Amino acid sequence: MGQSANTDQLVHTDQLAKKVILITGAARGQGAAEARQAAERGATVVVTDVLDDAGTAVAKEVGGQYHRLDVTSSGEWRSVMEDVVATHGRLDGLVNNAGIFRHDSILDGNEDNFRLITEINQYGVFNGMAAAAHIMKDQGAGSIVNISSVAGMRGQRAVAYVASKWAVRGMTKSAASQLARYNVRVNSVHPGAIETDMLFDLGTETIDRLVGATPMGRSAKPEEVGNVVMFLLSDESSYVTGAEIVVDGALIA
Ligand code: NAP
Repeated sequence: MGQSANTDQLVHTDQLAKKVILITGAARGQGAAEARQAAERGATVVVTDVLDDAGTAVAKEVGGQYHRLDVTSSGEWRSVMEDVVATHGRLDGLVNNAGIFRHDSILDGNEDNFRLITEINQYGVFNGMAAAAHIMKDQGAGSIVNISSVAGMRGQRAVAYVASKWAVRGMTKSAASQLARYNVRVNSVHPGAIETDMLFDLGTETIDRLVGATPMGRSAKPEEVGNVVMFLLSDESSYVTGAEIVVDGALIA
């Protein structure tokens, strides 16, 4: 996967001090890395996923709480948010990270696949923003980070995945415009080839092709996306909203 990056950077230990941050799909992959990075920076982290054992282990590691949260369920969103507010009194950051990838093409016309991906990747992000928006509006501050993809910046074969990730990018801008007056920021992050199971499941041949097409000549550690997410969650990005930040080693440049 090319030369590895030096991710042992100086951590601003108080960058997210006193902030309560909820991350979806945080039992593994990028979400788990972001849970660790947020805790290192002083945040109280609410780890959520549908993988209970792995999610509980990450929560224990970061000294946070675990909640089962299937992002497609507005009922589960409601009850988790109620618990977060009852326990912590606020919600400063939300990372809508949970997502799935499946191969498909328009020639397959696979409606079930299209619905499944739309439910999780698109409707899940909508649900999360809707659940957080009122809490953040009422407290007059908040940051929502939606994880899209380079597939939300251009076309590629996987039509359902591409559609869902473009939708995330569009919803981000719409929500950012509506919530800006309440000091609630909403941004999207667009990763390229990131070293998690989602990438590994593509197989060596596809990964090699993807890395070969990446001008930096390598894939990235989850923490390299996490660093950008931490910036967007922090007050250092106080005037950044409605933005899309690509983290892809110039893949789509
Ligand atoms: P990952 O390792 O597969 O992690 C995704 C997590 O989301 C898993 O724990 C997964 O659980 C969980 N999840 C799936 N469906 C869910 C649901 N309905 N409710 C709650 N959680 C659910 O993948 P990742 O690379 O960390 O992906 C994180 C985000 O980055 C995704 O939105 C993905 O589309 C995006 N992304 C990834 C890459 C990449 O190269 N890795 C590139 C661009 C964008 P299960 O194991 O049960 O599915």
